[in-house]
Amino acid sequence: MIPELFKNGKTVFSFEIFPPKKDGSIESIYKTLDGLSDLHPDFISVTYGAGGSAAGASTHEIAGIIKKKYRTRCIAHLTCVNSTKEDIDRAIEEFRQSNVKNILALRGDINPDIEPKKDFPHASDLISYIKSHSSDISVSGACYPEGHVESDSLEEDIENLKIKVDAGAEHLISQLFFDNGAFYSFLDKVRAKGINVPIEAGIMPCVNANQIRRMIALCGASLPEKFTKLIARYGDDAEAMRDAGIAYAIDQIIDLAANGVDGIHLYTMNNPYVARKISESVSSVLNSNTEKV
Ligand code: FAD
Repeated sequence: MIPELFKNGKTVFSFEIFPPKKDGSIESIYKTLDGLSDLHPDFISVTYGAGGSAAGASTHEIAGIIKKKYRTRCIAHLTCVNSTKEDIDRAIEEFRQSNVKNILALRGDINPDIEPKKDFPHASDLISYIKSHSSDISVSGACYPEGHVESDSLEEDIENLKIKVDAGAEHLISQLFFDNGAFYSFLDKVRAKGINVPIEAGIMPCVNANQIRRMIALCGASLPEKFTKLIARYGDDAEAMRDAGIAYAIDQIIDLAANGVDGIHLYTMNNPYVARKISESVSSVLNSNTEKV
């Protein structure tokens, strides 16, 4: 089970991928996984999309492939805001059939055009449901170092995070951030609240300025001057932006590891080139078994 990984002293290193879009092909996901698997992440997580995916490439199918073909641990994401209990039972049964026993339980974003279903208003409701009906499944949750956009304050969001952990989340993965200081301050606050499960830091390499601008608009991550200068200077030069974004992510990861974080979750954006460059630069640091500070 995933929470066990955090007990051996090294910094856990995991990847996130997403299923191909509806008009994509299953081949593209094999290409991504071929490029990632020899980097030996501790696990790969697969997102769960409301928009559907290419035939034969839904979250549970990809999660099953990661486990069976690539012999890598896997977490399948699962959202609940538009699901009934019957939908969730069906999804969990599909995960079981793919031998996937780790789920990242999420509410999902609310689509203004779709009335949310009533069974699971929050991720914590999904977590309680899975824990009470499927005791063989390990459940993780999401957290937000700078607060979820719908919360009035970080403090209120951390109160709700405590509900999520008390409901049974055994491990948390954070939203992306570019300011490590914000993450350390968040860790101090959650630990003071008695939230003691492992927390992985979500790192998204900024390799495409427009994509990152869209992402930041959605999640409200704060931007250190060092970061905005990179985008301002290299945003229109694809190769320079990619290399500067990789270097920034490596810098963030090394600082996080030196400060003893539990783990790093790399949002790979299905880009093995970027994941490889970063993995190769940080692997000795993350695998070092020196005592955490
Ligand atoms: P919740 O924990 O329910 O929180 C949502 C809001 O409700 C917050 O403001 C919170 O403070 C508040 N809240 C929480 N619990 C309570 C409670 N019990 N009472 C009152 N208020 C409460 N989206 C996808 O569609 N697919 C994915 O695969 C996906 N993967 C993600 C992976 C990570 C690591 C992260 C950080 C996000 C991911 N998301 C994904 C996005 C996520 O679905 C959205 O951020 C969504 O808006 C919130 O999901 P949540 O699970 O954090 O919700």
